[in-house]
Amino acid sequence: MSGHAGYDVIVLGLGGWGSAITARLAQRGQRVLGIDRYTPPHDKGSSHGHSRLIRVSSVEHPSYTPIMQRSYELWHDLEQATGLQVFTRTGGISFGPPDEEVIRDLPPAYEPYGLPYQWIERDEARSRYPMLRLEPGEVVILDESAGILHPERAVEAHLALARQYGAELLLGAGETHWEASAAAVHVRTEVGEYSADRLVLAAGAWMPDLLGYPLNLQVERQVMLWWQPRSHPEWFRAGTLPWFIGACDPPYEIIYGVPDMDGEGVKFGMHRGGQLGHIDAIERDILPEDIAVVRGYIQRRMPELEGTLLNAKTCVYTNTPDRHFVIGSHPLEPRVVVAGGGSGRGFKFCAVIGEIVADLVIDGATRHDIALLAPTRPAVRT
Ligand SMILES: Cc1cc2nc3c(=O)[nH]c(=O)nc-3n(C[C@H](O)[C@H](O)[C@H](O)COP(=O)(O)OP(=O)(O)OC[C@H]3O[C@@H](n4cnc5c(N)ncnc54)[C@H](O)[C@@H]3O)c2cc1C
Repeated sequence: MSGHAGYDVIVLGLGGWGSAITARLAQRGQRVLGIDRYTPPHDKGSSHGHSRLIRVSSVEHPSYTPIMQRSYELWHDLEQATGLQVFTRTGGISFGPPDEEVIRDLPPAYEPYGLPYQWIERDEARSRYPMLRLEPGEVVILDESAGILHPERAVEAHLALARQYGAELLLGAGETHWEASAAAVHVRTEVGEYSADRLVLAAGAWMPDLLGYPLNLQVERQVMLWWQPRSHPEWFRAGTLPWFIGACDPPYEIIYGVPDMDGEGVKFGMHRGGQLGHIDAIERDILPEDIAVVRGYIQRRMPELEGTLLNAKTCVYTNTPDRHFVIGSHPLEPRVVVAGGGSGRGFKFCAVIGEIVADLVIDGATRHDIALLAPTRPAVRT
């Protein structure tokens, strides 16, 4: 390949992560070209569906909490810089028996950092959340600082910020290929060829096709279903109902929901347990069994919500075996930085991942603790 228009950095993939990375690199004065095969925000990858849960504590590992605290700051900065609202504070509740993972793992995640949460016994919870049917012995944990990110708007905001700082964006570029030489990286798209000193791969569920080395990433089908309440619509609106998480029957681990934000209904999704496969082989239609799982849950837990199914969409996770992200230098190509493996929880980190990857590209290191995320760790090597 022969390149033209030398850039400092090319970013491949401008979804949740790549848009933030491009914005941050441009803010730090890099000549950046962001390339996406489609035109984000779009509904083919992982960053659509109107809402993503965010809370500062992380049950996966304590080292994520300071990173999340920085992400909250950066989401706020993004809103200030663009005038676009990307975060809505709704609060978030987890409910279940105290020994259930969704409850048991929370106090150890909050307490070491002095993060506030409320432990609400069943009787009080039933009066505060009349829409929720709690079993005897179940409790609720409330995090009032939790909220919702609006993913499509967040991608738009990061792309707008990137442009504001001079980044060039090539959207709808079609198939892309890259190679690295001793002197540069070269990217070929369906509309042109480009070269740069450095390359960032942030292609979400397409990463396995793009990486050029085997990394243990699994693409998983997810569904999102929006329901209109049968009665008491006021119970289900943001401001009254926080987002909620509870345990779910196998094969799913968790079921979660988002309150009605703009009359679009209450959104449900199941965490884990979806079909695995190549991104091109994922079932995109909504199946009767998808609807049945959520309807059954609603009948047991929120019967007043069993009204009309308003909308449904599929989406994909890109999972690592240990559920930690993959961020760091490409093991074979020192000019390339890899950022992927969002594992169903990567959206709230987009803003700080932009900062981390910009640090790695420009400084070769970051102040954030990303030891768990190394692309060379045994858990992600195949
Ligand atoms: C249903 C669902 C619910 C979720 N809920 C939460 C949540 O509540 N909280 C949370 O924090 N996270 C959540 N997540 C996870 C989070 O949304 C993802 O981790 C995040 O969106 C991943 O962003 P990404 O940039 O890696 O992928 P994407 O946003 O999919 O971006 C990848 C981009 O790469 C582009 N691309 C692909 N191939 C190429 C190529 N060859 N060249 C150039 N561009 C290319 C694609 O077009 C796409 O735009 C959820 C995910 C799903 C699916």
